[in-house]
Amino acid sequence: MNQEWADKFENYILSARSIVVCVHKSPDPDAIGSLAAAQRFYDNYFAKKHDAEIHYIIPDELPDHLQWMIEGERDKYLIDDDFQKNGEKIFNDADLIVCMDLSDSARIGMYGPLFEKSDAIKVNIDHHPKICDDFDFVVRDTSVSSTSELLFTLLSLISAESIDSCIANALYAGILGDTGSFSYSCDRPSTYYVVAELLTLGAEVDRIHELLFNNYPYERTQLLGYVLDKKLKLVKVNNEMVSYYTLSTKELEEYHYKPGYLENVINYALNIKGVNVAASFVQRNNNLIRISLRSKGKIRINDFACNYFNGGGHPNASGASVYDKTLEECVDIYLKNIAEVF
Ligand code: 5GP
Ligand code: MN
Repeated sequence: MNQEWADKFENYILSARSIVVCVHKSPDPDAIGSLAAAQRFYDNYFAKKHDAEIHYIIPDELPDHLQWMIEGERDKYLIDDDFQKNGEKIFNDADLIVCMDLSDSARIGMYGPLFEKSDAIKVNIDHHPKICDDFDFVVRDTSVSSTSELLFTLLSLISAESIDSCIANALYAGILGDTGSFSYSCDRPSTYYVVAELLTLGAEVDRIHELLFNNYPYERTQLLGYVLDKKLKLVKVNNEMVSYYTLSTKELEEYHYKPGYLENVINYALNIKGVNVAASFVQRNNNLIRISLRSKGKIRINDFACNYFNGGGHPNASGASVYDKTLEECVDIYLKNIAEVF
C-alpha cells in the first residue's frame, strides 16, 4: 500500500456515479466494521467532493451484536431482504463495485453471477488469498490481521482528518473480531501501530470488547453448552486427533438460533490439547450446510476447504457453503480425507 494506490482508489470513487459497496454473507465484525467505516468515511470526505448514488450491501441477516456499528445510519444500508428485492437493479446500474473482506464473488450470495456479468469497474479491498480474477483494481494484503486494518491504512492515506471516532470504533471491532481478541493473525508490529492510532482517534476498547464478547443472549450460551457437552467429537485419524461437531436445523431451532450465535464456538473445538484441526458442520436450512474449518500452526486448511467443499479462506481459518450434501456426508468426507493436511 502506498500513496499511489490510495490516489488511484480515490480517483475510482470520484469518477463513479453509481457505487455499490458490499461484504460477504454470514457477516462478521471485520466485514461490518469495514463497511460501516467505509460508509462514514464516504460521508465525511467523498460526499463533499462529488455527487453519486451509493449503496452499502449486507447480503445476509445482520447479527444483533453487530447492529451498533450502523446505529443511526441504518437507512443507508441494504440488508438481507432489502438486498434480495433490489439487488438486481442496483448491480445493473452500478458503474463501480467495491467488494470488501471477500475474494470470491460466490460469497456475495445470490448476486454473485450479476457481479460477474457487470461492466462496472470492480475494486477489491481484502486480506484473503486471491480467488477471483475479476477485479480491475485490488488492494490486497494477506499478511495483515483484517480488512479493517488494511482499510485504515488506505483511508489514512486519502484523508486522515476524516477518520472520526465512529470509524475508529468500527475498524477496531473488525481487528478485534478477526484476531479473536488479539490471539491469532496479529504477530506483526504494524497491527499494533494501527491499533494505537485507532485508540488515539477515540476507539472505545472496553465498550467494544463488551459489545462483541460479553453480550451473548442466554440461548446462545445454552447452545454453546449443548455443543460442548453433547455434540463435540474427537476422532483419531492416522495418529492425529481431530475434532468436529454437527448441528441440524432442528437443533438450532431448539435453541432459538440467530445469526452470530455460533461465532467463535469452533475455537472450543480447536483449543483442546493434542487437537490441531477442528471443523463444524451446521445445517442452516434443508439445502445449505455451512462448514467452518480451523487449524493450528503450520497446518494449512484452506486448500482442503477448496478441494473438498469448494470453499476457501486463510491457512488456519477457512469455510465453505455446501448445497448438495447431508451433514453425515460432509462429516464422512472430512474424516476420510483430513489426514492429507498433516
Ligand atoms: P468462518 O468459519 O468464520 O465462517 O470463516 C472463516 C474464514 O473462511 C473466513 O474468514 C473466510 O476467509 C473463509 N470462508 C468462509 N466461508 C467461505 C466460503 O464459503 N468460501 C470461501 N472461499 N471462503 C470462505
Ligand atoms: Mn476478515
